[in-house]
Amino acid sequence: MSKVPELFGSLVFNDTVMKERLPKDTYKALKATIQKGKPLDLSVANVVANAMKDWAIEKGATHFTHWFQPMTGITAEKHDSFISPTGDGNVIMEFSGKELIKGEPDASSFPSGGLRATFEARGYTAWDPTSYAFIKDGSLYIPTAFCSYGGEALDKKTPLLRSMEVMNTEALRVLRLFGNQDAKRVITTVGPEQEYFLIDKALYNQRKDLMYTGRTLFGAKPPKGQELEDHYFGTIKPRISAFMKDLDEELWKLGIYAKTKHNEVAPAQHELAPIFEDTNLATDHNQLTMEIMKKVAERHGLACLLHEKPFAGVNGSGKHNNWSISTDTGLNLLEPGNSPHENAQFLIFLCAVIKGVDEYQDLLRVSVATAGNDHRLGANEAPPAIISMYLGDELTEVLESFEKGGTYEGHGRVDMETGVKVLPHFQKDTTDRNRTSPFAFTGNKFEFRMLGSSLSIACPNIMLNTIVAEELSQFADILEKSKDFSAAVTAIIQDTMKNHKRIIFNGNNYSDEWVKEAERRGLYNLKSTAEALPYYIADRNIQLFTKHNIFTPEEMHSRFEIQLDNYCKVLHIEALTMLEMARRDILPAVGGYIKDLSETAQNKKAFSPQLGCQVEEALLEKLSNLSYCLYKKAEKLDEAILGAKNHTEITDSANYYYESVFGAMRELRAVADELETITAEKHWPFPTYGDLLFRV
Ligand code: ADP
Ligand code: MG
Repeated sequence: MSKVPELFGSLVFNDTVMKERLPKDTYKALKATIQKGKPLDLSVANVVANAMKDWAIEKGATHFTHWFQPMTGITAEKHDSFISPTGDGNVIMEFSGKELIKGEPDASSFPSGGLRATFEARGYTAWDPTSYAFIKDGSLYIPTAFCSYGGEALDKKTPLLRSMEVMNTEALRVLRLFGNQDAKRVITTVGPEQEYFLIDKALYNQRKDLMYTGRTLFGAKPPKGQELEDHYFGTIKPRISAFMKDLDEELWKLGIYAKTKHNEVAPAQHELAPIFEDTNLATDHNQLTMEIMKKVAERHGLACLLHEKPFAGVNGSGKHNNWSISTDTGLNLLEPGNSPHENAQFLIFLCAVIKGVDEYQDLLRVSVATAGNDHRLGANEAPPAIISMYLGDELTEVLESFEKGGTYEGHGRVDMETGVKVLPHFQKDTTDRNRTSPFAFTGNKFEFRMLGSSLSIACPNIMLNTIVAEELSQFADILEKSKDFSAAVTAIIQDTMKNHKRIIFNGNNYSDEWVKEAERRGLYNLKSTAEALPYYIADRNIQLFTKHNIFTPEEMHSRFEIQLDNYCKVLHIEALTMLEMARRDILPAVGGYIKDLSETAQNKKAFSPQLGCQVEEALLEKLSNLSYCLYKKAEKLDEAILGAKNHTEITDSANYYYESVFGAMRELRAVADELETITAEKHWPFPTYGDLLFRV
């Protein structure tokens, strides 16, 4: 496939296109904005806008849209055509710098968590020149940030960009202390591995639960699940392979580095991993990837499920957020170096991560808390809800030797400078990698594994960037004042180990002993979204974010409310969907089978009174009892849903949904699933797990 290089980025207004199409000084001015955040002159913006428009029209576009990421977790867009009347009944195609830089969508229907009363509903979108514009479905897409007129962030991009800025400032301070003068900018990088399910679209259309909620709310275990471990990395079925090829091409055209694809553990489950890039771009690209996955699936008669737990009893889907810190000169700051000096620098960055993750465990937990992910965290396949870090034995030993003040003798390398050891070069070693850790060091990056598959990666990375920047700033304060630099470095490493090593755990995170051990160590175990989210607005967390100008206290409160409100709504919709399916589909279907069976029994008796009807009678009794039970459980769920009205305070409401509504949902499901196993296939009203997972 020699055409991939030509195909790649062909729908992106990237650096090559800019160089080609912009006058030299315009290109330079735009580059300065992209690299140094300098404000762009309107006259320059006009030239850029015009070039973008000409290029977009050549590629078949007729519209442009400001593309943004409101608090819904998905992206938003409103399209305007380039047409402009000429006064003689004709039009010309126009696009101004003003339209490029700023948009004013009517934003009253986006969640704002009380930040914006509807009478002043207008928010505005502001161009993010650091993320390239691109073409999709005949429109020029302009990545933007979304704010209220008061300047409050209403989206996920604004705080992410702010957190990248703070990381840049604090990491540069530390680098300068280590004598690095070349780096002009520090960024964080992310490569998000995306899991998903593909099922037949015609079958999907027969399941209201999948259509309304993205997951199955009923479904008995099929005879075969994932126990044979024959799907993981298995041969890809032709239909899936065709989908993957098509998907790769679509992503490449949009400049997304789709790299790895394979079957995952559960039947019908797959994964796509891109090559890592700047966190802001990775976030935009992951949102696009999820959207394109769904669209391409449709083309192949498939439905792409991005829910964290579409099926009970087999693995759910997550997203591994591979994260590192890097300079503009291409230096990975989480890569152990070759000299003692580089190693000291590496250890300082490593300690910033260790200290940050320990001090702000709750924030990392909050950043992945959603109704969907609750099904996954703590279940056997996924990292538990407890945050801990895996460093591997070697690195842990190195840090421990610092703590004890001794020398590190391991692996044949010797110390050459005061107190700072030469670390062995950490090769990425897949053999002894700990797959159970929620936050694992994998050689030159950390892999945060708690994210749910449908989550925007913005929030976890806002947290990571901010907490690590905070620790770097504390370290820089100490080091800038120190008289003996090496001694100060050693002291920081020692202090970090003394006070924060409880967060390091190299063992099996799925074991019961770990849950007890973690409790002894005083680590959080926040099992549900309802339990985790209140930590978002804990005083110390508000202090952290306000100190670095990432969020105002109001913004944090609004985000806390939006997330809890979303949690309640998701459970509410799921509960209503279950009721509808139980009452209007399952009960009538079982009734149909009961009718069949009783008619058979009557016919048999009419044919010959001597014929026994033991099977029919036994089944009729069982079906009849279970149907009644289902009816009662549906009544109970109905009451639980109604009861939610009595809980108006948001935390109280979330707890109520978790305990009462979700509890009643589980009971209803158990009865329905049992009914499924004894009801004739032709009567069951929707495709079974076997159909959904294996008929692809
Ligand atoms: P795994 O064994 O977990 O699948 P891979 O080597 O395939 O590991 O990498 C997983 C992801 O990590 C890829 O998306 C890759 O681009 C990303 N990655 C590698 N290096 C970095 C880095 N320095 N920063 C961020 N992500 C990275
Ligand atoms: Mg991985």
